[in-house]
Amino acid sequence: MATIIYGDQLANKLNLQIKSVVALLKAQGKRVPRLIVILVGNNPASLSYIKGKTKACENVGIDSEVMKFPSDVSEKNLLDAIKKLNQDDLVDGILVQLPLPNHLDKATVINAINPNKDVDGFHPLNIGKMYSNQNTFIPCTPLGIIEIIKSVNYSLAGKKAVVVGRSQLVGLPISYLLTKANATVTLCHSKTVDLVKQVQAADVVIAAAGAPELVKGAWIKPGAFVIDVGINRISNGRLIGDVEFDVAKQFAKYITPVPKGVGPLTIHALLSNTVKAYNLKEN
Ligand code: NAD
Repeated sequence: MATIIYGDQLANKLNLQIKSVVALLKAQGKRVPRLIVILVGNNPASLSYIKGKTKACENVGIDSEVMKFPSDVSEKNLLDAIKKLNQDDLVDGILVQLPLPNHLDKATVINAINPNKDVDGFHPLNIGKMYSNQNTFIPCTPLGIIEIIKSVNYSLAGKKAVVVGRSQLVGLPISYLLTKANATVTLCHSKTVDLVKQVQAADVVIAAAGAPELVKGAWIKPGAFVIDVGINRISNGRLIGDVEFDVAKQFAKYITPVPKGVGPLTIHALLSNTVKAYNLKEN
């Protein structure tokens, strides 16, 4: 039976370290890190994610503000606002909550953020720096996944890792980070032939496809480390992951649940990147 790694408990523990860093800044009479979250429109899922992020900031003493724009905001107005935030010395991190309405070009908006304030790690300069192994902002979900693996002192060296999903947000960067940690990585996607065979051979499975219970529990190699990134709302309103949890936990050594798995670590990584952005500016 697997050890279930509860992301909320792990994140609470890690967030305490951030809280003490911020408390020390305050005690020294310095300003605290400040994060601006830009929201365009009122997509209910975005509102819920933003609530989680700002609440987490509040809990550790990071100052945060949500800048709301109507769903029909012009690209120019949005870019002007980002430009102002880029120039504001009291703003450390800028995050644009995705998805954006169709009339706004995601790349143009992300590219407008000052790379030194890009706490999501989505700016092409930061992506390039990550893949060329330079110090930069690592995207929050992959960074959170690495924290989960580190939390149980698991060595990735020589392990076969299978990542299901090749998004820029999760699948691609986590594949790189696992490779960097000396795992041998297979990156699977919707065109992969025989996903079952790939997963069956994996010591580490990262499921990030956004397909409810795509990875069947019986595919899991005994002793594998299973990290479920997927968040899928099913018909009864319940959230489930991309892994058939109840069966998979009988085979895995470690497994993360959904909810309360990767999500809280994604938020922890955002707090950590915000402190990093502050330090870039203040030190
Ligand atoms: P995405 O839609 O951008 O990418 C999904 C990827 O999965 C694609 O590369 C696609 O090829 C692959 N895929 C889809 N169906 C597949 C199948 N049947 N077999 C093999 N591959 C398949 O999604 P994303 O942004 O990477 O997010 C993936 C999931 O993770 C979503 O459920 C999302 O909500 C969740 N997510 C969770 C967090 C978190 O903090 N917990 C963060 C980001 C994303």
